[in-house]
Amino acid sequence: MLGLMQNQQLLISSLIEFADRHHGEGEIVSRRVEGDIHRTSYREIASRSRKVANALDSLKLAFSDRVATLAWNGYRHLELYFGVSGSGRVLHTLNPRLHPEQICWIANHAEDQVMCFDLTFLPIIKAIHSNCKTIKHYVALCNADALPKDSGIPGLVSYESWIGAASDQYDWPEFDENSASSMCYTSGTTGNPKAALYSHRSTMLHAFAGALPDALNMSARDTLLPVVPMFHVNAWGLPYSAAMTGAKLVFPGPAMDGKSIYELIESEGVTFAAGVPTVWQMMLGHMQAGDLRFSTLKRTVIGGSACPPAMITAFNDVYGVEVLHAWGMTEMSPLGTVCTLKNKHLPMSEQDKLKVRIKQGRGIFGVDMKIVDPEGRECPWDGKTSGDLYVKGPWIISEYFKGEGGNPLVDGWFPTGDVGTIDSDGYLQITDRSKDVIKSGGEWISSIDVENIAMAHPAVAMAACIGVKHPKWDERPIIAVVKKPGAEVTRDALIAFYDGKTAKWQIPDDAVFVEAIPLGGTGKMQKTKLREMLKDYKLPGT
Ligand code: ADP
Repeated sequence: MLGLMQNQQLLISSLIEFADRHHGEGEIVSRRVEGDIHRTSYREIASRSRKVANALDSLKLAFSDRVATLAWNGYRHLELYFGVSGSGRVLHTLNPRLHPEQICWIANHAEDQVMCFDLTFLPIIKAIHSNCKTIKHYVALCNADALPKDSGIPGLVSYESWIGAASDQYDWPEFDENSASSMCYTSGTTGNPKAALYSHRSTMLHAFAGALPDALNMSARDTLLPVVPMFHVNAWGLPYSAAMTGAKLVFPGPAMDGKSIYELIESEGVTFAAGVPTVWQMMLGHMQAGDLRFSTLKRTVIGGSACPPAMITAFNDVYGVEVLHAWGMTEMSPLGTVCTLKNKHLPMSEQDKLKVRIKQGRGIFGVDMKIVDPEGRECPWDGKTSGDLYVKGPWIISEYFKGEGGNPLVDGWFPTGDVGTIDSDGYLQITDRSKDVIKSGGEWISSIDVENIAMAHPAVAMAACIGVKHPKWDERPIIAVVKKPGAEVTRDALIAFYDGKTAKWQIPDDAVFVEAIPLGGTGKMQKTKLREMLKDYKLPGT
């Protein structure tokens, strides 16, 4: 017997309709590329999202066609979030921090039809547009009078004139909630980047779960500052949870330095902020230098990389701000765990509480976790035994876009490439990473790409890239190199060899020359042994 409940599909358009009807006055504040502060409301965002939908219809875009964005966090980006997905197209948020060639490769792979970009990224678009095979329409996210003349980009229009010509009357279509809504590429550990393709259903369920009290605890009384970029796993789903709860939104635009973020928190009365440790490191540095305090900030979610215990303590003890340490990944929409305390922890001393808080936290409802040994047997939740972390749930990928890389699942579970322990209370602690990538300031660097460039140098016989601890960026890559017999290359020459071949921030900080790189039985480089060999190595200047 089936239940007798309405079979309403979970669609992203319902979020902005809800925010319009129940929180129409709710503010959306953005620092713009133009440098000024812009204010709008959920009502206005809803109206302009409908204009976006009409504008896309007039371009004759089909259901599931991809619309790319290359944009900072701001109100126009938010309108595209709802207008693109709500009308049945797929929002493809591109990461502008990648090398232009990589961006172009990704846009071609996704078969993007429209490209909407902030003027900051005009040089990238100029460099790649002639090689972007599928993009038919370019939209600059600006007013008509700010549109660059003679850009050389065919048919370039300003966003304001594009949507200005469209009606704000639009009936959001109803369709299968399993339809694709947005996509995000992640740099693969091997080969090319691969995309997670989110659905309306997965996004909606993730938004519900993310807003729960023991997750991010969001409400209409919050003023939320997502510093985590909207091009990075949909800003951890926060724009959706914000519309679902009616929280006021504050967007930092391109200004992510400590001073700008601090000033925005104070001027807009931010109660809740979200970002990677590097951002907070910069902000705390600014606050310490000026002996500043917060007047409204209550909690901050920190993830993307392990949050240093000193940062948790500084936020808690000095500034009275609760840190929610969270873990997740692109393939998980991204929320997996959030570290909130249980009743039993409350009477504990601050020091004992810190031991819990430094962990990545408990799985939120909807995410099933297990850790397994090399034979695939499940390890106990004893807080000591570490294993490969596997996850399962309705907002975790079943496969990558276009089936790239084959079936990623093992018996229905997604192997995360992270290694950790889980204690008897269900708290996950990440102890290592089995995937061969380096995370610098919240962004991936593929060790394989770094190695391939070094290997192209005529004096290099073998190269291995590893991440080393860095106080600001969390990790930075260095390259260990074995020279060819009789060949010579200096450290500086090798580093200079990377110029123009990859994004600047992906260039290794140092090159070290070694006699040999440890190899395993099958000839694979053994990075753990190499890390052990270089354990006393310190990055210059740290
Ligand atoms: P995001 O940065 O949004 O979490 P990514 O897919 O770019 O998503 O990165 C996911 C990876 O980042 C995880 O698999 C893990 O290696 C690392 N990571 C994310 N959060 C944490 C955390 N709190 N502690 C340690 N590592 C983390």
